Amino acid sequence: MKIAVFIKEIPLSNNVKIDPKTNNMIRSNEQGRINPFDEHAIEVALQLKEKYGGHVSVVSMGPPSFQMSLREALAMGCDEVYLLSARAFAGADTLATAYTLAQAVKKMGDVDVMLFGLKAIDADTGQVGPLVAEALNVPHVTAVHEIKQVNQAQKTMDVVFTSETERVVVRASYPLVLSVSDAGGNPRYLSPLKIKHVMKQDITIWNETDLGCDFDCIGTAGSPTTVTNTFVPKEAARAVKMLEGTPQAAAEALVAILRDQHLL
Ligand SMILES: Cc1cc2nc3c(=O)[nH]c(=O)nc-3n(C[C@H](O)[C@H](O)[C@H](O)COP(=O)(O)OP(=O)(O)OC[C@H]3O[C@@H](n4cnc5c(N)ncnc54)[C@H](O)[C@@H]3O)c2cc1C
Repeated sequence: MKIAVFIKEIPLSNNVKIDPKTNNMIRSNEQGRINPFDEHAIEVALQLKEKYGGHVSVVSMGPPSFQMSLREALAMGCDEVYLLSARAFAGADTLATAYTLAQAVKKMGDVDVMLFGLKAIDADTGQVGPLVAEALNVPHVTAVHEIKQVNQAQKTMDVVFTSETERVVVRASYPLVLSVSDAGGNPRYLSPLKIKHVMKQDITIWNETDLGCDFDCIGTAGSPTTVTNTFVPKEAARAVKMLEGTPQAAAEALVAILRDQHLL
């Protein structure tokens, strides 16, 4: 089974800086970390490989500093990594990001399972996985909580996803895209034996020409959305009302307030 995991590096701290001209996040050479949902995606990929055999590739689009996160993925046990990095990719919104990742899938060839995190916890859209599925015209399931079983003869997977009210089991044929939430349980630690080795391992870097990209579909040119402003919302001053009297009277007053506001 050929598995590809897509990981995004997110800033390590909340102290992110936004470029005042472009409103894009300033991705300097400071060390970031793998988006937590993507660590679950890596764990799921490794468990699939252990159970059904196969090969795990990891792909990230971003600046050269993202190589460190890719090396971490290697130290967790993934087989090979690709960094999609070029000036032309800068400023990509979710559509341009997904197009670029889909071009990488086409170049890799015959990928059975494409694993994404549920969402990146910095920009938080959760759009990239489903958009890659659309670009490749393959099925996708989001909010995947568990992979129950794989039928390799029929090329189907039974996966459990979480809806607002219940867990749902669906059978989907692959190649397919899965966006995982907490699937796979706790992501495994980096292997100390592998850490030294992966620091020397080559990382394949692809640019827009390597991927045969249509220049109108990448970076800012391929991005129909632009962030026009970012701001921290002002916290509204909250009214405080002290409830007086006996506990019984205070509880009755509280219930009356909640009823009044249609909260009960
Ligand atoms: C403040 C701010 C607000 C933004 N708002 C928007 C917006 O509203 N709409 C919009 O289109 N863009 C927006 N962007 C741009 C957005 O950060 C990029 O498009 C980003 O590459 C993908 O969006 P996301 O982080 O929401 O990913 P999500 O769709 O939340 O990510 C889901 C999964 O896709 C994979 N993935 C995402 N990015 C990459 C990557 N670069 N390489 C490999 N795998 C990846 C990971 O598995 C990840 O868990 C915003 C950027 C900033 C700085």
